[in-house]
Amino acid sequence: MDIEQFRKAGYQAIDRICDHFYSLRNKPVQASVEPGYLRALIPDAAPQTGEEFENIADDYQKLIVPGLTHWTHPSFFAYFPTACTFEGILGDLYSSSVANPGFNWTASPACTELEVIVLDWAAKLLGLSPAFYNASGVGGGCIQVTASDSALIATVAARSAYQRDHPDARMEDLVLYTTTQTHSLGAKAALVLGLQCKMLPVTKEDRFSLRGETLRTHLDEDIKAGKRPFLLIATVGTTSSGAIDNMPEIRQVAKEYPTLRVHVDAAWAGVVLSCPEHRETCFLDDINEFADSICVNFHKWGLVNFDASTLWVRDRKYLTEALDITPIFLRTAQSTAGTVIDYRNWHLSLGRRFRSLKFWFVLRSYGVEGFQRYIRQGIEQNQIFVKLVENSSVLELVTPPSFALSVFRIAPRPEGKPLTLEAINSLNRFFFGRISARNDIYLTQTMLNDVYCIRLAVGSMLTTAEDIQGAFDIIKKEAELALENWKI
Ligand code: PLP
Repeated sequence: MDIEQFRKAGYQAIDRICDHFYSLRNKPVQASVEPGYLRALIPDAAPQTGEEFENIADDYQKLIVPGLTHWTHPSFFAYFPTACTFEGILGDLYSSSVANPGFNWTASPACTELEVIVLDWAAKLLGLSPAFYNASGVGGGCIQVTASDSALIATVAARSAYQRDHPDARMEDLVLYTTTQTHSLGAKAALVLGLQCKMLPVTKEDRFSLRGETLRTHLDEDIKAGKRPFLLIATVGTTSSGAIDNMPEIRQVAKEYPTLRVHVDAAWAGVVLSCPEHRETCFLDDINEFADSICVNFHKWGLVNFDASTLWVRDRKYLTEALDITPIFLRTAQSTAGTVIDYRNWHLSLGRRFRSLKFWFVLRSYGVEGFQRYIRQGIEQNQIFVKLVENSSVLELVTPPSFALSVFRIAPRPEGKPLTLEAINSLNRFFFGRISARNDIYLTQTMLNDVYCIRLAVGSMLTTAEDIQGAFDIIKKEAELALENWKI
């Protein structure tokens, strides 16, 4: 493809993307294809000679689009909807066009410098302490691929710090703490690094958040057994119910056990920190005072297209002392002089995408106020759903709503013979089976301790108040049909 052919194909691609957004509302949310559908449609080896791009672009529409689940659909309420803004798409397009692996400052000075600046913008947007700003020269932030990468890196850094301070420690004695509600990223980090992961219990009474006393009891027990607690991954906004671990209590415990580092996974809910009225609920003051690192995924609810996971650390040496390996071919005068950041020492891979561009486009285009408006809109839309559930005789909330997330189930009926928990769970499984058989709405299920429930997460750019009412109508109808048709 030459430049003029690219120009033509590029205009067509943008046209088709716009048409996609215009028609998205009328498409099914979930793809209705069978596993392996694409094998039958695409040859099993690359063509021997090149093909016309026009045909390739047409095949994208014909073969790929039908197999897409539309995460930006107005009726996508599963997992956590992903951010998709036109500014973000354009940022990725420009980024792709410069094909820049940006691993150190000289690889493209603009790439590193923009990231250094926009990460400070983002830290200010969220109200993080200046200790986390790149401008502090001590702490700092960078863009990772995902929250799982951030957790893995925080674990590598905490492990290195622990081993430096305790050279006698055996790796297999190191324990990473999460709760039963922490995203699987904690267990994954431990698995990859060959460390133990202990999932601490949480209760419904505590809204599934980690209490200081639980942490203290387990730390004492493990230390007595010769274990080496070195890291806690605490969460602000768990995946299942949006629970927020009790940071003031954890902060107190962390003071008593100074070798324990704390990483905060605020992958989903972290963006609500942009609204000052939610900072206290998220214990921002405590996080600012004691957390070693914090991760926020802007690619979930934060308007920046996937991938856009941010990681801030209180001390950048925490990362670089664990990850800096500099063979001669990576040495530069600027990094030897210590006048620049080489982000390759802040993450696992060498090369990295120019992701700061899309952050810059989005944050400039929306401004702080536009960003806050968007987050508040998601919370307000969830409140509409909450009110509808609260006024319903069929459904009930299982936990109080968390920002833009509601967790609900068919309420056990007060009349007739009382149902066991097992039976209520089975009824709700049947109910969820009915919802997930539809392709005009998409929700996901979870377990909160032993209670089976269904989650509705608001956040798509296209969702309106009417879509929330529409979703509730579908859910209520399916709940009524489930009650009519379910047999013990
Ligand atoms: N943390 C929480 C609270 C999440 O809800 C999720 C995903 O939904 C993750 C982490 C994982 O995010 P990522 O895909 O960026 O690793």
